[in-house]
Amino acid sequence: MNAGLAEPREFALERHQMVERQIEHRGLREPRLLAAFEKVPRHLFVPEELRYAAYDDCALPIGFGQTISQPYIVALMTSLLELSGRERVLEVGTGSGYQAAILSQLAGEVCTIEFIPELAARAQKTLAGLGYANVHACIGDGSLGWREFAPYAGIIVTASAPKVPNPLLTQLTDGGQLVLPVGAQGFQLLEVWKCRGGEYDRRVATSVAFVPLRGKYGWKGS
Ligand code: SAH
Repeated sequence: MNAGLAEPREFALERHQMVERQIEHRGLREPRLLAAFEKVPRHLFVPEELRYAAYDDCALPIGFGQTISQPYIVALMTSLLELSGRERVLEVGTGSGYQAAILSQLAGEVCTIEFIPELAARAQKTLAGLGYANVHACIGDGSLGWREFAPYAGIIVTASAPKVPNPLLTQLTDGGQLVLPVGAQGFQLLEVWKCRGGEYDRRVATSVAFVPLRGKYGWKGS
């Protein structure tokens, strides 16, 4: 990754403050996690006219009615996967590509799938330009998972589902975890599903507000 070398100094400083104030001070202190957020240039994943706000404590619009999540939520969902560094993981909802870039620093291989072709194309360009070689991206309905590379030790869904999509559960490794927002549009619970010998444990991490999941196991008509 070489774009970081040429970035304006303010971005590096803002990014460091984001890590300290929004992530570390809220209790996520794992050094590898913090290092990933220090490294990935979030301002290159937001529309150019919003770069000034890239490190703010909020979600931002990325076009087509979609958003790049608040940094803390990206960090929380990533930390819930408890990655050691060698796993293959799946992200449903590539959006800007930022969550995939963070995962690429913390997992062995990242597969990411996006429903909207224009967003997928833009994210793939950004990720390739920054040299994240362990990310595979495609266009498609991620509510069905991505069979070709399954099973996954971790799956993150960055759009909210009416209920947990069964294909995602069946694409987990034994011991693998699925993190996803489930619930009504505008308010959801962030659920963590763990696969243990063919059984699934579910727990709730917090409440969140994500854009709706589309596709077969998503919201009809959204
Ligand atoms: N993870 C993103 C945030 C994306 S917002 C980031 O880091 O920027 C949620 C994304 O999920 C949107 O881009 C939306 O188009 C996508 N999405 C919604 N339903 C989907 C589906 N069934 N399959 C794949 N992507 C989907």
